Amino acid sequence: MTGGQSMIGITSYGGYIPRLRLNRMSIFQSMGWFAPAIVMVAQGERSFCNWDEDSVTMAVAASRDCLMGQDKSAVDALFFCSTTLPFADRLNAGIVKTALNLKDELHAADFSSSLRAGTTGLVEALSAVKSGDRNQALVTAADRRLAKTAYFYEMWFGDGAASLLVGKGDVIAEFLGSHTVSYDFVDHFRGSDSPYDYMWEERWVRDQGYSKIVPEAITGLFNKLSITMDDVDKLVFPCFFKAEHRKIAKKLGAAPEKVIDNMHEVCGETGAAHPLVMFVNALENSNPGDRVLLAGFGQGCDALYFRVTDKIRDLPARKGIKESLANKKTTDSYTKFLKFRDLIQTEMGIRAEAPTQTAMTVLWRKRDMLLGLVGGKCNKCGTPQFPRMDICINPKCRAVKSQEPYEFADVPAVVKTFTGDMLSVSVDPPNIYGMVQFEGGGRFVADFTDCELSDVHVGQAVGMNFRKRYSDKERGFTGYFWKAVPVPVEEEATAVGEEIRFDEKVAIVTGAGAGLGRAYALELAKRGAKVVVNDLGGARDGTGSGTSAADRVVKEIKDLGGEAVANYDSVASPEGGQAIVDTAVKAFGKVDMLINNAGILRDKTLAKMEPKNWDAVMDVHLKGAYNVTRPAFIKMRENRYGRIVMTTSAAGLYGNFGQTNYSSAKMGLVGFMNTLKLEGDKHNIKVNTIAPIAATRLTEDILPPDLFEKLKPEFVAPLVLYLCSDGCQETGMIFNAGMGYFNRVTFVTGRGTAVGDGTQVPTLEDVHKSWDAINDMTGAEEFPNVTASFVPMMDAFSPKKKEAPAEAGGKLTVKAVFEGMPGAFQADKAAGVDVVFQYDISGPEGGSWYVTVKDGKCEVAEGTHSSPTTTIKMADEDFVKMISGELNAMNAYTTGKLKIEGDLMKSQLIEKLFKL
Ligand code: NAD
Repeated sequence: MTGGQSMIGITSYGGYIPRLRLNRMSIFQSMGWFAPAIVMVAQGERSFCNWDEDSVTMAVAASRDCLMGQDKSAVDALFFCSTTLPFADRLNAGIVKTALNLKDELHAADFSSSLRAGTTGLVEALSAVKSGDRNQALVTAADRRLAKTAYFYEMWFGDGAASLLVGKGDVIAEFLGSHTVSYDFVDHFRGSDSPYDYMWEERWVRDQGYSKIVPEAITGLFNKLSITMDDVDKLVFPCFFKAEHRKIAKKLGAAPEKVIDNMHEVCGETGAAHPLVMFVNALENSNPGDRVLLAGFGQGCDALYFRVTDKIRDLPARKGIKESLANKKTTDSYTKFLKFRDLIQTEMGIRAEAPTQTAMTVLWRKRDMLLGLVGGKCNKCGTPQFPRMDICINPKCRAVKSQEPYEFADVPAVVKTFTGDMLSVSVDPPNIYGMVQFEGGGRFVADFTDCELSDVHVGQAVGMNFRKRYSDKERGFTGYFWKAVPVPVEEEATAVGEEIRFDEKVAIVTGAGAGLGRAYALELAKRGAKVVVNDLGGARDGTGSGTSAADRVVKEIKDLGGEAVANYDSVASPEGGQAIVDTAVKAFGKVDMLINNAGILRDKTLAKMEPKNWDAVMDVHLKGAYNVTRPAFIKMRENRYGRIVMTTSAAGLYGNFGQTNYSSAKMGLVGFMNTLKLEGDKHNIKVNTIAPIAATRLTEDILPPDLFEKLKPEFVAPLVLYLCSDGCQETGMIFNAGMGYFNRVTFVTGRGTAVGDGTQVPTLEDVHKSWDAINDMTGAEEFPNVTASFVPMMDAFSPKKKEAPAEAGGKLTVKAVFEGMPGAFQADKAAGVDVVFQYDISGPEGGSWYVTVKDGKCEVAEGTHSSPTTTIKMADEDFVKMISGELNAMNAYTTGKLKIEGDLMKSQLIEKLFKL
């Protein structure tokens, strides 16, 4: 075994499962008439590529995820593993390398022709790094396999990709050895002229293939390393025969809890990528010390053994397999699935016949722009632009030949304009495209993908994704470019009743040496957070400094068994702010939460308010928040996670005698939040503000003594901590909090009135005449941003919209559905049908009914039939939703809301027989 510097293994991982999922029941629904047996494997859903995705685009997506936070220039090998490479003769790894903007001095190679290609690529990468030939090798595996329709394998297969970075030193999983056996065992094959796999008999594949060859490779590895199954915590190997998967693990002596799920229910088997997809999924759920055994089957078997290290905790957050599984769009449209895989022919119109030949000369000359989305950045004025040109686009600069290469792929961007077009050629109409504006400059018209037209809005955050642009079928060429994908909104609301924890989260609390800050720090630590306790340790007016305040609170936390470090820097300078954030990163590797709490007072009436008192308060409260928030925000953005709390005051919100400095600074923080909430939105950074009231040294001479006793800082902490939690999706809110009483503060804007017609400037007298209407706050509204606040003004001078018609009343009940069933019966569809449908509907509105269809007639009766053909069980609410179209029947079935007993095939008749 190796150790220390010479340790080799995995240094990073990434994953990608396409957003689209097909409900397997919909395959049965469409093709069950032809192949009823496929119902046996019709549970759950399988992933499938959008029409513009293939193995290359998925490999790029998984590799970008894997390279997050890594030095790309250190990668000197790229192995692309797939059995569905789009080009038989053009280095596919070369396309991936160009899209990722990896350096040219790199060994790129394709691994193919076996489902084992993924693990084989990994074994080769590990051996190249071990030998010293390569420093860092990126292994990426992706597959998008086709299957004939109405076939078990159409159900079993899924599309997906995973990437692993192999290197030395700071490995997250140390490589401890591998063993391979190779056989020309043909369980299936794909001839070079066929798009489909030819499968041999399942029983033979199971008995002679998986259950012999996988154990042989694993036992061989055990013997080689002198270990047993007791030395394995996680066993990863794909096998889509569920029972066989369990049997093999049992044969090897692995307890069921060690066996990593084969992901059949959630995505299906992703071909050559699947061992790595499952391995990444296992790493996502691993702890330091876990020992993972990975095996990949296909014409033999590779077995590899790893031990997870502490470094896994330092890896920046990423989408991985976990998040891409969560970001899904499930469809019941089997025909859409077939069309996206080019398995059915549709008339695409004359426009689709336009020539698509790619000029290889241009592709070569502009390869970084076309495949790598590299534009230019002016080295004189810093303006980015796409595409790169000879003259700087900035009218004030116009420098010539000043453009340096600038990668746009990872720059945050928003939608500036967009349209949905039904006329242009599209596999998935409408064709959505529009102007994308990049943060810091640069914009271009991009196609949008992985979205519906209704998902897109101006100002929305988008990410750039490498996709297929066109297929030149005549010449067999695929053209790629980058497209915009709307960033999904995270909805991780914490379930009510669940304890809210902060384990593995890192918090900075400024001014945490006393008062409110101390209460926040203690409670955060009690709930698992690692805390930076910052405090300058000065006097109430900000003079002086000391270490004891912060040290005391750190000791209190440690005595409670928590984790904390002290920091004594002042928030009042940018260097201090940076040092506070650096303390968090050095001690705990990241920053997840920041509570801007440090505060001082220098009260004077305005006439006596000297600049030094004004500035001291501004420096700590307003500039202090800027000084710490900026470096913290940059760190949070890297991790796409952050919770920030600002501290305002009732003095600012409502006014308080003798505090113009303090009130101004505190209201400044509200403005700060209003804008930062917009900037943080696309990075999952939420910013809120609290106005506390508590007994501390700041209020000891302000609050009456009896009230002072009741206002413990601990009463404020719950709200502040909630705003720091994962589940908190609020952003841009202000709350008052004290003594356990909480309320929200907001700015509302009155409806106002138009004075004049918007073309003539109104007079003072006109304004005076309309004074009551201008002042009226009836129907006042909140606005989320400046643009929204302009809408009433624009509307006031636009032609009036028509009032929406009132909603029709009347609630649908379960009983009413059955009463209406004879009326919904389609007698003409019932020839030869002889069935009894029993409905058992649970819940307060439920009951039992049975529907008999015989001799072209339909009868509905309350009660239970003695021998129904099919029994349908459902809750009353779900039933009403399904009938009214709010709940899709297929979804209800696969999620267990709808249970069908008896003849499943006959249940399909309900849709045909009744027009509900
Ligand atoms: P506090 O004096 O008990 O705590 C403030 C802490 O901030 C002190 O420990 C102090 O040393 C520290 N601090 C001051 N200047 C600093 C600097 N430059 N760098 C780092 N640390 C510094 O007061 P508190 O009442 O707990 O106040 C916390 C926050 O709540 C303040 O922002 C205050 O304005 C705000 N606030 C408090 C009340 C209240 O009723 N207590 C009301 C409204 C707002």
